[in-house]
Amino acid sequence: MTWQATALTLFPDMFPGTLGQSLAGRALERGIWSLDARDMREYGLGRHRVVDDTPFGGGAGMVMRPDVVAAAIAGIDLAGRPLVYPTPRGRPLKQADIRRYAAGPGVVVLCGRYEGVDERVLEASGAEQVSIGDYILSGGEVAATVLLDACVRLLPGVMGSGESAVEESFADGLLEYPLYTKPAQWDGRDVPEVLLSGHHAAIARWRRAASETVTQARRPDLWAAYQVGAGQDIPRVAGIRADADRLN
Ligand code: SAH
Repeated sequence: MTWQATALTLFPDMFPGTLGQSLAGRALERGIWSLDARDMREYGLGRHRVVDDTPFGGGAGMVMRPDVVAAAIAGIDLAGRPLVYPTPRGRPLKQADIRRYAAGPGVVVLCGRYEGVDERVLEASGAEQVSIGDYILSGGEVAATVLLDACVRLLPGVMGSGESAVEESFADGLLEYPLYTKPAQWDGRDVPEVLLSGHHAAIARWRRAASETVTQARRPDLWAAYQVGAGQDIPRVAGIRADADRLN
């Protein structure tokens, strides 16, 4: 069964873009997922296919019209898929959302442009509003690409056995431990000795401690949640601290 992605956009040529390359691109070619970029301009009004207008109440910029966006949504078969509207006004998009989307039949992403989309069509359509971070992009296409890239890599058969989604950042509420590869000595810098020891339990302890240290230092929000929540049922390693200065 193919995981189905639809992007409603004024710039269909922006897709597949980076999603046509590497991991996601190969999965697209293999039919693990499909991508339909629908041009909302087709639903624009009049000879000029107008999709936007000035904001009621005044102010800068243009707003995407609800009638046009509603027609574009009505023009697709949602087929049980969530409609997602990326916007800086949304709740932060989390790996848990990505897992939920990836586990379903697919997603429909409404890509905003200009100042955004009329609130009424967002309400009426029940769109999930998610933000990919506290900064402003010029349009929703890049945010849609981020969301789809994160979903596609979780689809069965996309990641090889060499790439694991189990141990990476956020999987257990912590950021990932630092990574090292050959050469063991580079530019006067050594790899932490324990990683060369072959002692799997000691390596696991070191990695857990390093994950905790970096999470505490960089993401106090994740660290607080880890301490009170999901982290509770994970075996803890007390008293072990990785080299904090390596982690900055
Ligand atoms: N006026 C809006 C910003 C509009 S940016 C505001 O102040 O909130 C234009 C479009 O880009 C948005 O409709 C949205 O689809 C997309 N976009 C911009 N920044 C984003 C972000 N951080 N996360 C998700 N989507 C974003």
